[in-house]
Amino acid sequence: MTQEGNFPHEEHSTKRAISPDLEKILYNKIPLLDHGFIRVVDYMGNDSAIVQAARVSYGQGTKQVSQDKGLINYLMKHRHTTPFEMCEIKVHVKLPIFVARQWIRHRTANVNEHSARYSILDKEFYLPDPAHISAQSKNNKQGREQNILSTQEIKATLDILKSNSEQCYENYEKLLNLDQTGHLLDETKQGIARELARINLTLNYYTQWYWKIDLHNLLHFISLRADPHAQYEIRVYAEALLDVVKLWVPYVYESFMEYRIHAASLSRSQVEALKKMIDPAKFSEQEANLNIRELEELKRFFAKKQE
Ligand SMILES: Cc1cc2nc3c(=O)[nH]c(=O)nc-3n(C[C@H](O)[C@H](O)[C@H](O)COP(=O)(O)OP(=O)(O)OC[C@H]3O[C@@H](n4cnc5c(N)ncnc54)[C@H](O)[C@@H]3O)c2cc1C
Repeated sequence: MTQEGNFPHEEHSTKRAISPDLEKILYNKIPLLDHGFIRVVDYMGNDSAIVQAARVSYGQGTKQVSQDKGLINYLMKHRHTTPFEMCEIKVHVKLPIFVARQWIRHRTANVNEHSARYSILDKEFYLPDPAHISAQSKNNKQGREQNILSTQEIKATLDILKSNSEQCYENYEKLLNLDQTGHLLDETKQGIARELARINLTLNYYTQWYWKIDLHNLLHFISLRADPHAQYEIRVYAEALLDVVKLWVPYVYESFMEYRIHAASLSRSQVEALKKMIDPAKFSEQEANLNIRELEELKRFFAKKQE
């Protein structure tokens, strides 16, 4: 496996801030779906880079651990986002084309994709695990129902997906007049250009790219794509990236879980409904399990009349 900027078995020392837990998995493939993966190939910055940028200070820029955590929580809570842009990560991703089409909508990243005009695509296509083959959801037009399909229907689905994908690849090779290793199939024919032959392949074929993004936009990607509303096949990638964030910037991870993933955004009507049901005078410090500041904030919020 190529290790960008590094030869196998070669160690480097650096003056740059590193993230020890992320170093341990650098270059390692994290397998996803049936043939996909992500692997971190490079990164810049760690928790202290965010703190340092926020304080616009020099050197390590850290004070006590509790103060750094507090500052990161403050930035996350109040959406003071630019310090998070000081950290960047570069990931090699292998993903089915239909997942790539959703992923590429996130415009705030730098992308270099494998060229199917230049190279012959591998014969690798995604077949869903039977546990993830479900009927169309009745109440969510963009979703799947909980599994209610018979085993026969699931098997028939997989048979169709597999035979169509194989058939398309066979015809792709015929159009190229080459097999997947580049050997000529019929000496009497020329074969058509790779850029045209590829149009016969299905959306479940795998592609690969290098994806570089700053931490602020990565968290935005994760909050949209690790959400239960996102399609399962992109969600697994977003969840794997969330695990990477945990290793890379553990304070940011904790803060992100607290103020984004497990937090809620409520409509005005929902807030009104809650205000009718909740009496802030009855909030108890012990039961709330909140610090004084957060408890007071909550009391003020529920006591305030809607404008
Ligand atoms: C569950 C789900 C369902 C979806 N369904 C559909 C669908 O049916 N059809 C469809 O077309 N898309 C769909 N999308 C894609 C969605 O509309 C967004 O394009 C995608 O999530 C990328 O989000 P983003 O623009 O915030 O991200 P990014 O492109 O990474 O942008 C990040 C932020 O930068 C700012 N920004 C970036 N570029 C611009 C710009 N040119 N102008 C102004 N501000 C900018 C915005 O604040 C934006 O939020 C879906 C997404 C999700 C998560």
